Amino acid sequence: MKKLENKIALITGASSGIGAGVAIAYAKEGADVVINYPTRAQRADANAIASAVRRAGRRALLVEADVSDDAAVRRMVKAVLKRFDRIDVLVNNAGISTRALVEDMSVAQWDEMIRINLRSVFLCTHYVLPHMYARNYGKIISTASQLGYAGSAGGSHYCAAKAGILAFTRSLSREIGERNVNANCVAPGATVTPMVKPERWDAIRRTIPKGRLARVDQIVPAYVYLASDEADHMVGQTVSPNGGDVML
Ligand code: NAD
Repeated sequence: MKKLENKIALITGASSGIGAGVAIAYAKEGADVVINYPTRAQRADANAIASAVRRAGRRALLVEADVSDDAAVRRMVKAVLKRFDRIDVLVNNAGISTRALVEDMSVAQWDEMIRINLRSVFLCTHYVLPHMYARNYGKIISTASQLGYAGSAGGSHYCAAKAGILAFTRSLSREIGERNVNANCVAPGATVTPMVKPERWDAIRRTIPKGRLARVDQIVPAYVYLASDEADHMVGQTVSPNGGDVML
């Protein structure tokens, strides 16, 4: 028995990296997948992920939407519900990474980070949640980061956004209460994706007990588990595949 048989999953930022890996893994576990990507520039990559989903025998829907844009998110959720009638799983995964010390960071750089990495999580959840409540079913999984715990010089905006996702998820879980909707996070450690430049790998490796960055396939199982009904008693939690970088 597959773990996500006939589920409908909406994954933001699914044209590359962790989101793409989650999309393909979900399809292999029996889910139909909505692949969100931000602009035309990612369409070819998103199409390649959609092809992989279809090769796994599942349906794929591509939706271009900037998840930090209120109207765009509203339209995306409407389009998904029109095509599939329901959303069983929402993966808030889209994100960016930039670096600057606090004294050098422009207000625009701070705002961009909070908009794309944190506001987006609120917006997508805000528009999907009433629908999940109405069906009394849903799994919401948001991508945080081990840096949300550890902090990072040059990454105050990123870390604040990721810590915000953890606190948002805990608060949301208290609001959800006894309903059959679960909100949890995955906080990956450094992972080989387009987000982490190869020139940073050596310095990162030295800080990790395992001595290496993760591959995407070492992160993805946490998302499969949290989307499955095996995780029904996981509430406001964070699963942290991070090679021992942060131990809680
Ligand atoms: P990635 O750059 O491959 O993926 C990020 C995705 O988000 C891209 O597909 C990008 O197109 C999309 N995106 C960016 N802005 C968007 C927007 N406004 N609207 C919609 N989509 C948008 O990198 P990744 O490592 O796979 O990152 C995925 C998530 O994992 C991010 O939230 C990131 O912060 C988090 N993360 C990554 C690492 C790591 O080491 N790679 C570690 C911890 C957490």
